[in-house]
Amino acid sequence: MKIFNNTKKPTYEQHDNEKDNYYQFSSTKFESRPELKENIRVDVCIVGGGFTGIASALYLAKQGYKVLILEAKKIGSGASGRNGGQLGGGLRKEQKVIEKLLGFEHAKELWNMGLEAVEEVKNNIEQFKIDCDLKNGVLTAGYYEQDSKYFLGEIEHMQKKYNYNKYLHLDKIEIREEINSEKYYSGMLNKGSYHLHPLKYLYGIANESLKLKVDIYENSPVLKIHQTENGARIVTKKGEVRADFAVVACNGYLDDLLGNIRNKFMPINNYILATEPLGKEKASTIIKNNYAVSDTRFIIDYYRFSNDWRLIFGGGETFTKNFLSDASSYVKKRMYKVFPYLKYHKIDFCWGGTLAITVNRFPNFGSTYNNKVIYAHGFSGHGVALTTLAGKLISEYISGEKDRFNLFASIPHLTIPGGDLLRRPIYSLGVAYYKLLDTIR
Ligand SMILES: Cc1cc2nc3c(=O)[nH]c(=O)nc-3n(C[C@H](O)[C@H](O)[C@H](O)COP(=O)(O)OP(=O)(O)OC[C@H]3O[C@@H](n4cnc5c(N)ncnc54)[C@H](O)[C@@H]3O)c2cc1C
Repeated sequence: MKIFNNTKKPTYEQHDNEKDNYYQFSSTKFESRPELKENIRVDVCIVGGGFTGIASALYLAKQGYKVLILEAKKIGSGASGRNGGQLGGGLRKEQKVIEKLLGFEHAKELWNMGLEAVEEVKNNIEQFKIDCDLKNGVLTAGYYEQDSKYFLGEIEHMQKKYNYNKYLHLDKIEIREEINSEKYYSGMLNKGSYHLHPLKYLYGIANESLKLKVDIYENSPVLKIHQTENGARIVTKKGEVRADFAVVACNGYLDDLLGNIRNKFMPINNYILATEPLGKEKASTIIKNNYAVSDTRFIIDYYRFSNDWRLIFGGGETFTKNFLSDASSYVKKRMYKVFPYLKYHKIDFCWGGTLAITVNRFPNFGSTYNNKVIYAHGFSGHGVALTTLAGKLISEYISGEKDRFNLFASIPHLTIPGGDLLRRPIYSLGVAYYKLLDTIR
């Protein structure tokens, strides 16, 4: 049975005419891998060479599976090589909300797995000596006066119920000492979160996978996945792979590859820029302790300094199939509202990426085709840590230990209505309401 036959321009092609983004510019190039031009048999075939795909390959290869990755473009050309680099534990929603939705025990297990995700990334960095500029501390900056009360409640709840003591509250004076902007009223620092250079981390785990004999093919988009008697047949333009299992790790770039499963999330485009290097001294007058920052609005700003002291500032989303033609003006406008004095500095890079947002903001894990095709996507802008964990859980699932994968897979997800024609307008309308709240609150 055929489940994909896409005639539209695939989402992964939208980056084709871009210049290098800052992460590509500042990474040691990853040696190109060949295109698939033959028929191969492996244990597991992975579709997508982002964090989820590469991490799945790494953990599976560690267990002795023969693994092959098919990437449509270059590895890291999706969101994993384009994001804000914030390595946060937990999920995208607050624990109190998760408890209400799933019950305390389930919520606690997910929280612990969120912490494990961060630890797992840190362990990989340490074990494989990946030089990816890891720094401690992520600060949520309160954009609204009432945020302080919310932060204090959250800190108390997390201490009492989860014994989590890494959140610290910042009042108005403290947040303005920490971030040189008049926009914020309070803050909540998470000392259990980090920031890093995402593409260097991705190349680091990809290099380890190669050492474990994982085969990586680039410029090899998968056109179809067929169910077979014992697994799956994965077809590209010039070759095909037969495998006991296929793992689909395409997140916001999935398109029709798994049929209607794409309606469990909305692909949205988010944009980032990098200023010219500002120097360590100037940087420390902007963010005193070099934390990564995001704010409390529905459409957030997020930013941090790179190792060479550029401000990497992200913010603003679009829901159309194509990227903005002038993303730089769009992001600059947001940045100047927070840091008007940065108008006098050059912007060296600006780029966008596609992420996958689910209605409830939980990632969408599951399996299809008699449990032979496994997928994990919908990380909802919170995937830098969770994708590495997803890779670990997928490897557990394939080796027969399904419980932890199922803790995610059992979370119910709404389908975004409207089909191909109306899904984007319907979602945009919903978001417009929250955007309006951002401006009038
Ligand atoms: C601008 C931006 C900022 C973000 N900031 C943060 C942040 O600070 N912190 C955080 O936690 N998360 C952040 N995220 C989210 C995070 O980057 C993602 O959740 C994560 O990278 C998803 O990884 P992935 O491997 O699942 O998908 P991706 O990295 O998107 O990889 C999917 C891959 O699949 C490939 N592919 C698609 N179709 C096919 C096909 N048919 N055949 C073969 N290959 C295919 C694509 O080319 C792509 O390389 C951000 C995302 C964006 C876009």
